[in-house]
Amino acid sequence: MARTHIVILGPPGSGKGTQAARIARELGLAHLSTGDMLRDAVARKSDLGVEAETYMKRGLLVSDEIIFGLIGEALDASKDTGWIMDGFPRNLVQAEMLTKMLGERGEKIDSVLDIDVDSELIVRRLSKRRVCPACKAVYNLDSIKTKTAGVCDACGGPLVKRPDDEENTVRRRLAVYKEQTAPVIEFFRKRGGLVTVNGAGDIEEIFAEIRRVLK
Ligand code: AMP
Repeated sequence: MARTHIVILGPPGSGKGTQAARIARELGLAHLSTGDMLRDAVARKSDLGVEAETYMKRGLLVSDEIIFGLIGEALDASKDTGWIMDGFPRNLVQAEMLTKMLGERGEKIDSVLDIDVDSELIVRRLSKRRVCPACKAVYNLDSIKTKTAGVCDACGGPLVKRPDDEENTVRRRLAVYKEQTAPVIEFFRKRGGLVTVNGAGDIEEIFAEIRRVLK
């Protein structure tokens, strides 16, 4: 069977990371999240992480050069499994670069999912988001509760609020999304194969809808 390649787009807090992880599990794909790769580099305090952190803290995009390096390695590592890409491409330069990198590898994108959610709902959701830095699991104080408060169900690690989930930073990330990432949706719409899914419901309903449109 041909390896599947999916891009998932959507504003911060749209639930794309949660859905991408599920799709990856179900289809046996690598989950390529540039946000997770960057947070790992920040935690390791690598040169790349130290540089990226100054942008991430402010809710701004890190440089395309940093991202291209990460994506190039991730594409090589997942060539046998296929992938779902989450958080990339984030602007038109990245969208064009992805098209070029895939062309050079003889690969193509099979589906582009766009998860659409209202900005005010996002601000409310992200104020309640908690994450496990160790295993990357994502929770929500209202909708995805842990068995023990503040402790990851999957690995037992302590949960934290991401520094960029503070309201001011979320609003900046939404503005950056509107200005730089929304044009990527148009880019894929013109190219064909883009499907928009309403991301306002609960996780199970949205996942069911994604499965339906991927078929
Ligand atoms: P995310 O987890 O996808 O919300 O990403 C968190 C932060 O990492 C973003 O606010 C950006 O600072 C940075 N980031 C993640 N992916 C990219 C990308 N493709 N291009 C530039 N910056 C990114």
